[in-house]
Amino acid sequence: MPDQLQILNPATEAVVATVPATSAAEVHEAVVRAARAQTGWAALAPGDRARLLRRFATTVDAHLEELALLEVREAGHVLGNARWEAGNVRDLLDYAAGGVERLTGRQIPVPGGLDLTILEPLGVVGVIAPWNFPMPIAAWATAPALAAGNAVLLKPAETTPLTALRLAALALEAGLPEHLFQVLPGHGPVTGSALVEHPGVAKIVFTGSTAVGKQVLAKGSAHLKRVTLELGGKSPNIVFADADLEAAATAAPMSFLDNSGQDCCARTRILVQRSVHDRFLDLLTPAIEAVTVGDPAAPGTDMGPLISRAQLDRVRSYVTPGLDGIRGKAPEGPGFWFPPTVLTGVDPTARVAVEEVFGPVAVVLPFDDEADAIRLANATEYGLAGSIWTRDLGRALRVSQAVRAGNLSVNSHSSVRYWTPFGGFKQSGIGRELGPDALTAFTETKNVFLSHATTSTTATSTATSTEGPAQ
Ligand code: NAD
Repeated sequence: MPDQLQILNPATEAVVATVPATSAAEVHEAVVRAARAQTGWAALAPGDRARLLRRFATTVDAHLEELALLEVREAGHVLGNARWEAGNVRDLLDYAAGGVERLTGRQIPVPGGLDLTILEPLGVVGVIAPWNFPMPIAAWATAPALAAGNAVLLKPAETTPLTALRLAALALEAGLPEHLFQVLPGHGPVTGSALVEHPGVAKIVFTGSTAVGKQVLAKGSAHLKRVTLELGGKSPNIVFADADLEAAATAAPMSFLDNSGQDCCARTRILVQRSVHDRFLDLLTPAIEAVTVGDPAAPGTDMGPLISRAQLDRVRSYVTPGLDGIRGKAPEGPGFWFPPTVLTGVDPTARVAVEEVFGPVAVVLPFDDEADAIRLANATEYGLAGSIWTRDLGRALRVSQAVRAGNLSVNSHSSVRYWTPFGGFKQSGIGRELGPDALTAFTETKNVFLSHATTSTTATSTATSTEGPAQ
């Protein structure tokens, strides 16, 4: 009996599907098939590769509602978000398709000939995705990797393989070559590890916890594997006294409650200038209480369940009895529910103020002045995102430059657009995804010198005449 993954609907705990897990031996077979498919794919004319990726985008678009409903059922995402996520996959494919013919190298002036840089595909790329945004995060890496001429082996999280499997079927329907994009559901330590350790996989794009990301980096180093790591966060939402407090308080709830707080960019440390601390909490309380938590498929629901019982237990462990704060409402009964929670009067070094909870829980921490705000914002091992609320443009610029994080927004909480770069400082990751350079991250740069000389003997003497010795 093969190992099976049981997929639960997190809003009801009903079994949605069972999916066979991929063994290490099957990973090896998939790598061999992918390597073959990649050779043909890289040899296609750029325009043809772009056309096939656009057709893949169109096919996804035609199945948007089906993909969104699948995301609601397996991940508990609210329907509006799930629709956006399926649309995001389409947009990522379209955007990457536009890069295929624009993936150009350079011509660099040198004496004695012509120097060209060529961007070559890496080969087979392994993408290891988390459960929190199964579709978009898988596509962040898959779309540009394919566009740059690579094959992709995608390992979705144990709890959320269904949309990934459907996307692979849609790729075939759109006409992408067989085995070019394969989905390998399975357990992290088995299927994920096998990808990381396989010598035939040139690069791993890993999105997940910082702890596992470090293992991926260490194990991949055996083959000097290229890695992009998108890891955890504990992002600050800095509210200065001169901000539009009403706007800041209205926006704060969904900045950490979206996707039930299971968002690496969640603004879970709300830093508020002491002089407006109480006023801000007065404004925040009704905003938190107004958040509708319930059936993710119902229109008007703001927040659904957590992904699993394990995640629910983890979140509960941070909210110990006796802590003050604001609590919203959540359904009782089956499903992995936790109410919106804002904790006040918390020690900035307490576990809940320092560790990534990955649930609908934020802490409010007061600060005195700009320097204190920057100190608190940076008092974390993470550096993924952050927001700054102020009416002072100079302060917005100063604080944006002083906060050590990869994705900041001023007077908003926006972090992720497929056409702007995304990634973390410090222990939030290595490398960047999305944006204009997304395809380049899936290439090796080759430098080729073409001599002007007509014979091989003069070529040697010309090449060494004004340059250093060959290394
Ligand atoms: P996780 O690290 O447990 O798992 C992520 C993926 O890695 C899963 O597919 C899992 O099966 C796989 N995996 C687990 N052990 C492995 C191993 N030994 N070798 C190879 N693969 C292995 O993380 P999670 O709980 O699924 O996701 C939540 C975490 O992801 C949070 O910490 C969150 O901040 C982070 N995250 C980061 C970003 C970002 O872009 N920075 C985005 C989303 C989620």
